[in-house]
Amino acid sequence: MKALQLTAPRQFAPFVLPEALPPAAGEALVIIHAIGICGTDVSGYLGKMPFMEYPLVLGHELGVEVLAVGEGVTNVKAGDRCSVEPYLNCGHCHSCQQGCTNCCESLKVLGVHCDGGMRERMVLPAVKLHPRNTLSYEQLALVEMLGIGCHAVNRANVSAGESVLIIGAGPIGLTVLEFARLAGAEVSVWELGQARRAFVEQNYPGVTVLTEPPAEQCAQVVFDATGHAESMAETFRYAKFTGRIVYVGITKVPVMLDDPLFHRRELTLLASRNAVAGDFHRILELIEAGKINTEAWISHRAPFDELPSTMMSWVTPGSGVVKAIVNVS
Ligand SMILES: [Zn+2]
Ligand SMILES: [Zn+2]
Repeated sequence: MKALQLTAPRQFAPFVLPEALPPAAGEALVIIHAIGICGTDVSGYLGKMPFMEYPLVLGHELGVEVLAVGEGVTNVKAGDRCSVEPYLNCGHCHSCQQGCTNCCESLKVLGVHCDGGMRERMVLPAVKLHPRNTLSYEQLALVEMLGIGCHAVNRANVSAGESVLIIGAGPIGLTVLEFARLAGAEVSVWELGQARRAFVEQNYPGVTVLTEPPAEQCAQVVFDATGHAESMAETFRYAKFTGRIVYVGITKVPVMLDDPLFHRRELTLLASRNAVAGDFHRILELIEAGKINTEAWISHRAPFDELPSTMMSWVTPGSGVVKAIVNVS
């Protein structure tokens, strides 16, 4: 079957993979229909992911169809359309025992730590498939990304009427925005890029879009979705006394924390990593009920065979990509 391998930074190579084996007990064989391209894929493509090893098959935002299931599988059946939870966890470490499958101590994320879904078919643990036959494969491919925002907002336990500041309105900031809005929060977004600000203004009428740095103590909950160490350090200033701060973005660089401010305001600092199965279920319901409409996010599409020639144009600054989708079949 056809597959695409990232052999080195900026180099996709089409190659032929042996046909997937029939699914064993607890597994399902799936057809990959739609693949979302996200910041992780872009960083890997550009060679900016320090722990990513080449060659690697990318692809962790997947909309798939079940072709066959192995023994004992009851949550999905042949023909089901599913979103894939790409976080392969061990099931027995400290995190897994507490149900925190999102931060398993030996977590393997498909397409990041091990080969992912840029191929025609693959075998996956059936428990990582979340079916919803009323949704399109493109919608299903967006669920994982939405999970990032869903989990982050859950981490901060955002409630109705709370003031929320989101720093950065890239795709991850937008997912946080979706769930902060659903929680009934008063949301402000600070984004330096004019095109991204315009996107928020156009698609989220009730949201305040800031062009200037936010005022001190403007929000009860501050989300950093930039992944920039300096921005992450600054979040403390924007939090009200007793406020919460969630780092959704990641940096390799140490973040300098203003401890006197942290203590005086008795702030709570939270990390947010990936998402859990319950987030996937909730998101599928919300999309089905029309409470999340991500149609506007899909700005670019390409057929699978054209990805090697198209990817560079998507990662070039000024490309205007919000979300790009690869259609496999
Ligand atoms: Zn992603
Ligand atoms: Zn584990």
